[in-house]
Amino acid sequence: MTEHTLTVAGVAVDTRHWIGGERVASAETFTDVSPIDGSVLGEISRGTEVEVDAAVAAAKAAFPAWAATSRAERARILHAVADGVEKRIEDLAIVETTDNGALLRSHRRGVMPRVAHNFRFFADWLLELDHEDFETRGHTNHVSWDPAGPSVLITPWNAPLMLSTWKVAPALAAGNTVVLKPAEWTPLTASLLADIAAEAGLPAGVLNIVQGYGSEIGDALTSHPDVRRISFTGSVPTAQRITQSAAVNLTPLSLELGGKSPLLVFADADLDLAVDLAVEQYDNAGQVCLAATRILVEETVAEEFTRRFAEKAAAIVQGDPRDEATDIGPNIHERQLEKIDGFVRRAVDAGARAVIGGHRGEGQYYAPTLLADVAQDSEIVQEEVFGPILTLQTFTTEDEAVQLANDTRFGLAATLATGDRERAARVTERLVAGTVWVNCFFVRDLQAPFGGSRHSGVGREGGTWSFDFYCDLKNTVTAPKGWKNHG
Ligand code: NAD
Repeated sequence: MTEHTLTVAGVAVDTRHWIGGERVASAETFTDVSPIDGSVLGEISRGTEVEVDAAVAAAKAAFPAWAATSRAERARILHAVADGVEKRIEDLAIVETTDNGALLRSHRRGVMPRVAHNFRFFADWLLELDHEDFETRGHTNHVSWDPAGPSVLITPWNAPLMLSTWKVAPALAAGNTVVLKPAEWTPLTASLLADIAAEAGLPAGVLNIVQGYGSEIGDALTSHPDVRRISFTGSVPTAQRITQSAAVNLTPLSLELGGKSPLLVFADADLDLAVDLAVEQYDNAGQVCLAATRILVEETVAEEFTRRFAEKAAAIVQGDPRDEATDIGPNIHERQLEKIDGFVRRAVDAGARAVIGGHRGEGQYYAPTLLADVAQDSEIVQEEVFGPILTLQTFTTEDEAVQLANDTRFGLAATLATGDRERAARVTERLVAGTVWVNCFFVRDLQAPFGGSRHSGVGREGGTWSFDFYCDLKNTVTAPKGWKNHG
């Protein structure tokens, strides 16, 4: 144990940055606290422009060799990283749960295996990445994906390692080098990833991690002239700030932002399925960008839906996320709880009725809440809360359902519950959303395009779309004749 190590349930985590294959400490630190019980986990190196410059310089220096590394070798190393993640699933799961309060059982069985899959998927996709040559008046067109260069990846706290590796894996597969800045509330699993990547043989400087506050080092990262790509997941105001900062160098951006997604329940739906889908929106204490937080129900079944929903939601177990029986853990931070409560108070003052919940629980928990009697133009219907707060509205026609569903500034996802295939096709076509789920929720394949419309984001990642973003695409046109020596 050193002054630069903290331990979580016996797992040692280095609290320093990871730059150029070495641990680097800052003079200043910030305190990392567990949302489970408010306990202090440790002091984390707090980055400044100095560490940002060092990390970008390391990424720049490592880029030519990594870009020139064969696809097969890059894929081999990424698979080795996946092996390392799989070996440490238990460590990663308990550290992540302690740091962000999401369920240990989900981290163990779903999230961390998925982290490994992020590396395997993009390693395999890289080996298949191709575009068939085509001809123009006898000339051959050949499309290639050239690695773009050092990439800055900035991620939020609600699914820290999952969202970080969803960017790190394709960026590295593409041949780019990376500077990752994890969220300040949840820096720990990124540090473990550095250990895993080093052990897997990822060359020094290919992955760099700078910890710290976005408000302090964000501009230095996003306006850096040597950075060729910025991929960001987080809130709309931060994305607007990053867009301005990146404009100086016209650095291409991928922005995955917030949402206020609808769940449309038609009278022809399997109502039990619809209720299950609705209750699922409380997962991760509502701290899910894709959550369908606006429940829109056809009027004829609204009463029955609401009755069954309240019954099912009453069985939700809220508590310690390390406990197998728990369904919902704490919210991330006191500041976030105050924000959530402010939204609910203002909604109730404006006439909303809490069908369930509507208040804080003990400690850092908020009672799962369903608010009815809400106006379409009200704050609670229009703005992302990022907590266990759902709203309930009714509609009488398909047109009205679509109109309500599309009537926010967001467009991340939408979920439909209907027993009618033709209706599903008609409605889906009219919805503004990056992802639509029909009679299901949260089924995500890495080869699918992922992203949001309007204020939910800019661009798409996933499968080939990720390589399109992280690379400079090149088309080479070769004349049919003209080789001097070879005919
Ligand atoms: P946030 O925007 O406050 O912070 C996200 C990251 O940006 C953090 O690492 C933070 O340090 C950094 N940051 C802050 N200011 C910065 C600046 N000026 N320059 C550069 N970086 C800066 O968001 P949050 O509260 O951590 O995350 C919640 C938000 O993320 C919600 O809106 C949620 O919907 C969204 N989200 C979106 C997706 C998606 O895929 N669309 C997934 C998860 C979360």
